[in-house]
Amino acid sequence: MKLLIPSLVIFLISTNLFAYGADTSHQVPGKFFKSTIISENVFLLQGEGGNIALLRGNEGLVLIDAGYAKMSKALEYELAKHGGVEEVVYLINTHWHADHTEGNAFIGDHAPIIAHKNVRSRLLTRQEVKFFNMVSEPYASHAIPSITFDKAIGLSINGETLEVIHFANGHTDGDSVVFLKSANIVHMGDHFFSGFYPFIDVDTGGNVRNMANNIKSILARIDDETIVIPGHGPLSSKADLEEFHQMLVETTAEVEAMLIKGMTAEEIQAEGLSLEWEDWSAGYLSTDAWIKIVIRCLNTPMP
Ligand SMILES: [Zn+2]
Repeated sequence: MKLLIPSLVIFLISTNLFAYGADTSHQVPGKFFKSTIISENVFLLQGEGGNIALLRGNEGLVLIDAGYAKMSKALEYELAKHGGVEEVVYLINTHWHADHTEGNAFIGDHAPIIAHKNVRSRLLTRQEVKFFNMVSEPYASHAIPSITFDKAIGLSINGETLEVIHFANGHTDGDSVVFLKSANIVHMGDHFFSGFYPFIDVDTGGNVRNMANNIKSILARIDDETIVIPGHGPLSSKADLEEFHQMLVETTAEVEAMLIKGMTAEEIQAEGLSLEWEDWSAGYLSTDAWIKIVIRCLNTPMP
């Protein structure tokens, strides 16, 4: 917990917004987004908060996630390069967390918001993530998804086919992964933190086992050419997602083996994980924090 606690205290003092806790060095700092064109009509916007994808074309702009409220001015600036926020025709939310949805308040004035039905339910009510001592108050009505689905929804626009598919109980209980079929791009939402241990929100229905199973299904849908956008971290490939999957499966197995031996959480943290996973603790959650999350998942009935 050495790494986690001091940073978390600073976070609690410095902001009341939802940040992914321990260390945000993996995120691009500053009030502007770094915009990267990743396909003919698709841009990646990286800033503080979750990664945002922007699809442009004759029929308007489609956003996948909307970032923090404090980044909405920066988002407005980026959208101005593509005709302005008035050109946005749809916003898709990958899940309910504030670092992906606070910008709904800005975009929701201009375009309908699409998300899994559980995202709508959660944003209508007060949410609590105890791991970060974080509370999210109900959103204003215009910031709540109005187009919802259970399993999947398709969107054909700008010559692109978007498949928004729900993957249950991985990072939360309302995660969607968005496949852009023509461009061969996938936005993973927070089913993928590229290069570091992920946060899994057990309080709102996430579990590491489902996350790993879901990623296995997603890997079967993509190929070596697919551009993989993680919820957090750099633009990635199928191979990067495979490594992440392997890390999830194997670190979970290590923690489970120690639990079966009867070790306590403190003993498991003192023992740590195999050295090969050490790099995953750089930039976000410490190994102790990751062990704590995995234990919580293993001790929680599979949703
Ligand atoms: Zn999240």
